[in-house]
Amino acid sequence: MAGNWINYIAPVAQLDRVTAYEAAGCWFDSSQAHDLLVVVRCRKKMLKVQQYYMQEALQEARQAFQEDEVPVGAVVVHQGKIIARGHNQVERLKDPTAHAEIIAITSAANYLGTKWLNQVSLYVTIEPCSMCAGALVLARVKKIYFGACDPKTGACGSVVNIVNHKKLNHRIKVTKGILQEECSSLLKNFFSRKRAKKV
Ligand code: ZN
Repeated sequence: MAGNWINYIAPVAQLDRVTAYEAAGCWFDSSQAHDLLVVVRCRKKMLKVQQYYMQEALQEARQAFQEDEVPVGAVVVHQGKIIARGHNQVERLKDPTAHAEIIAITSAANYLGTKWLNQVSLYVTIEPCSMCAGALVLARVKKIYFGACDPKTGACGSVVNIVNHKKLNHRIKVTKGILQEECSSLLKNFFSRKRAKKV
């Protein structure tokens, strides 16, 4: 149901001067309509904020693309401020653990001077893999926002769900699908370019 609120943006924009509103088969009086309007505006604003941070993560992913790395980018947000950034550097560093998320949370921990990141959100263009999801749990990250799902290695629900595993001692709130198209098309372009080079 929560996701459906966003569908109400267009009709609710007309609500300022009406006394009743019908949506999804329900009637609202003016106060309910006002509440609905506030909720929708709030959610719209939140979505814009999330898209802003994901654009920053996409900038990191584009940087990886330019460096001929698999284009994944991440940023860490603390109290509304981006405190750390990272993009995939596996090839450059010859390090299989040099994923965007690992680089970003290591940098965030250094910045904050703590190993616990329970007050930060991580924005990453692609669903974290099992290694990164495990590291995010160990770091006790508060929230994860990711762009596109990864049906092959995703560990936030696609293949396994490490960040919300009932036997682990920390669980992370996850929001997926932020700028999904941009995040996924960058990855598709990268691999189609790779395939074209091989031919
Ligand atoms: Zn990873």
